[in-house]
Amino acid sequence: MGKLKDIHFNELDQKSGEDYFAYLDQGSNNYKWDALEELCPNCLNQTLHQKEDDICCDACAESYIRVEGGLRFK
Ligand SMILES: [Zn+2]
Repeated sequence: MGKLKDIHFNELDQKSGEDYFAYLDQGSNNYKWDALEELCPNCLNQTLHQKEDDICCDACAESYIRVEGGLRFK
């Protein structure tokens, strides 16, 4: 079991740190993102999800942050 885990981590090392933590978060909590009712400013689909301060669109994969109540491109 320990060996399998080492191999797994080595594979993940090739990804960026950000991807790695996103992977960990989603892996341990299944689906942790909160769906938003707002439309995506880029593709106008209701496909935004928020996790903490990060807002991401499932349809066009744009990332946003909330600034003064509005969405800004990250
Ligand atoms: Zn979008």
